[in-house]
Amino acid sequence: MVKVGGLGDVAGSLPSALRMLPGHLLEGRSLDVRLVIPYHGENPRKLLDPQPVASFLVNHLSGPIPTRAFVTYVDDLPVYMIEGAPIGTEAPVYTGDNYLDGLKYAFFSLAAVELARHLNWQPDVLHANDWHTALAVFHLARQRLSRDPFFAQTRSVLSIHNLPFMGAGAERALDEFAIRPVRDLRLPKWARQFPLPLGLLAADRIVAVSPTYAREILTPEFGCGLQDFLNSRSAAISGILNGLDQKSWDPTRDGALVSRFGIDSLELREENKKSLLAEFDLPYDPQIPLLILISRMDQQKGIDLALASLAQMADRPWQAILLGTGDPIIESACRSLQAEFPDRVRAAIRFDTRLSRQMYAGGDVLLMPSRYEPCGLAQMIGMRYGCVPLARSTGGLRDTIFEGAPDRPNNGFLFDEVKTEALNAALTRCLDRFADRKAWRQLQLNGMQQDFSWEKSAIQYANLYFDLWENQR
Ligand code: ADP
Repeated sequence: MVKVGGLGDVAGSLPSALRMLPGHLLEGRSLDVRLVIPYHGENPRKLLDPQPVASFLVNHLSGPIPTRAFVTYVDDLPVYMIEGAPIGTEAPVYTGDNYLDGLKYAFFSLAAVELARHLNWQPDVLHANDWHTALAVFHLARQRLSRDPFFAQTRSVLSIHNLPFMGAGAERALDEFAIRPVRDLRLPKWARQFPLPLGLLAADRIVAVSPTYAREILTPEFGCGLQDFLNSRSAAISGILNGLDQKSWDPTRDGALVSRFGIDSLELREENKKSLLAEFDLPYDPQIPLLILISRMDQQKGIDLALASLAQMADRPWQAILLGTGDPIIESACRSLQAEFPDRVRAAIRFDTRLSRQMYAGGDVLLMPSRYEPCGLAQMIGMRYGCVPLARSTGGLRDTIFEGAPDRPNNGFLFDEVKTEALNAALTRCLDRFADRKAWRQLQLNGMQQDFSWEKSAIQYANLYFDLWENQR
């Protein structure tokens, strides 16, 4: 298998989790997983001692681009790194300019597929992620269409982490790599030269990062204009939740915490709340729930709903700490809430992982009122740290948070409609429950006991790969 993709967590965690799957889960089958990434920056060169394995040319309008590939091993996982002018060594991973990013990722995607040929290693499955590497899937399909025997048996999987990001603006870059608009009538005209739709057209299987998101993208509300096309491919679409790096996010070992704690020592958790409140100059009272929000400040995240709801629920006891950066309008709305409620709201407008860890460990409730949420990590981290999520029932939130589900113990609070009233109702239930210490503790434990391991995701991906390999040829 070859896995192409730059999405930090998935690209980093899934291949290792796949490699570490115990034999009994694979029913005697084995996986040879290899990762291909762009060669960014000087750091990997020093740290990983990559060895050259191939050099070849990738065609471009202005002439063939010399391309070099290196290999290094991370815990036995072969990681191939691709170097070439469009990737650059000093440039940021994402430039924010989709023409430049388009050049970089189109080049990378084509080179990743060609690398397999130059290694003379025929993958059974190529797995790519998001618009950045979707063109690898598209390029592979072109090779198969041209009856290239090398790739005749190779199947493809494309994971969707965030459908709205389709790579719009990369069309000129695609032209330069001779990737012209397709004529397929299933795709809306505007999408026929966007990297993600091209990959979705070509992929043998499409995976959304949660089962609920896999269903949602078939609807006008979440389909971003591709819903009719995606419905035409619905037999190929499934959903697999991302895992959480449970080593990094472990409250029993987290060095950022004032007081480490676990399922058997939940009483130690409260020290984190005391210290967090002290740091923000807010009073500590065990009867008052501390609500936290840790998020990119983006319209997607529904932060406006949370702010409106808090203001409307001012007659109830709560405190709130908001951490995030992004859209200046949302940032300033958070600051305004602090100005309105200086005795109980703090807005920390920055990116601060250490503070986020202290907040997950010290907050009582994590607010996550997302308009859409393909998978969502924050709620998983919150639950692992005993911080009970209150979230909109969408995407991965709906698949990991349960309130009143017939077959799952409660571990949080959910609301459906994108309306402040709906959030108010959930917050009311939440604040009422907080007053019942025993019931609250059970909610925390239910969340802390949930299995968010990458192994759980990896076995589903492995089954998908085997299914493709065994049944689709
Ligand atoms: P998304 O990927 O859409 O931003 P997720 O919930 O999947 O949302 O992941 C967000 C991750 O980023 C979480 O680990 C969260 O803790 C972290 N994060 C978001 N904003 C901040 C911030 N301002 N400071 C530190 N960590 C943050």
